[in-house]
Amino acid sequence: MKMPFSAIAYGCRYCTPLKHHLFNITPRRRLPLPPLPAATPRSSCKLPNPNICTGHSLFRRMERFWAGSGINKNKAMVEHLQHYGVIRSKKVAEVMETIDRALFVPDGTSPYIDSPMPIGYNATISAPHMHATCLELLEENLKPGMHALDVGSGTGYLTACFALMVGPEGHAVGVEHIPELVDSSVENIQKSAAATLLKEGSLSVHVGDGRLGWPEFAPYDTIHVGAAAPEIPPALIEQLKPGGRMVIPVGNIFQDLKVVDKNPDGSVSIRSETSVRYVPLTSREAQLRG
Ligand code: SAH
Repeated sequence: MKMPFSAIAYGCRYCTPLKHHLFNITPRRRLPLPPLPAATPRSSCKLPNPNICTGHSLFRRMERFWAGSGINKNKAMVEHLQHYGVIRSKKVAEVMETIDRALFVPDGTSPYIDSPMPIGYNATISAPHMHATCLELLEENLKPGMHALDVGSGTGYLTACFALMVGPEGHAVGVEHIPELVDSSVENIQKSAAATLLKEGSLSVHVGDGRLGWPEFAPYDTIHVGAAAPEIPPALIEQLKPGGRMVIPVGNIFQDLKVVDKNPDGSVSIRSETSVRYVPLTSREAQLRG
């Protein structure tokens, strides 16, 4: 993706998911640990919970591995997310291996580091572990033939992953309110393994205010919101199918990733998955003002 010339690239707020959702993770497979630099500083974590300290140092090891050893392959990134238990589903792993993240990050940035990256317009592409977490949470609602809505689709990365999962019989819809990001997301997707789905119409990306959803293809089995809302927009609950699931960060400074399930009788159950930090779901003007 080309960085837009007018982009406010480095003054942006990061979708920095707090690392503690990795804290209690036990690796599922006993893969060899990545080689560590000879002198690894000990974790400065002084929290009393030993799980938190362990997880924190694992996370640092992952970061160092990606940043320091030159391993920059999409597959290696996915394997590490599996190793640390962030990706458990085979399907999610397959899809993240198939959609190369390098096609979606701005030129000159490191695609496989587990960190959000600025994409211009005060927005970011979320970190790989955050994309993986959302795909894991939504997997059951991304079966072939289902409808998926990605609000705040940004680079188009997750919309492309959704499209591969729901396939040509389903529909994956991205809604993004910055027209330049919609244009570049289309270019990114055209270079990716989801290009045919875009061409044939089961994947589409639209300019619009995502707080209003995208009624054309509603109701949705899955709704993912990639920006933090002060409260859950009613239009999104309306456009969720009974049996459907929405994942949405909610809050201002302190945000929770909420999992919203619509029950068959139309009532909704909401739980908090983890603490996160995303850019706000707001008006285009407010976002560009920063
Ligand atoms: N999930 C995307 C982008 C995350 S950043 C990715 O990983 O690439 C959040 C995105 O939400 C930004 O692109 C921002 O422009 C968009 N956004 C914020 N408020 C919005 C709104 N009201 N309607 C549509 N998009 C919005």
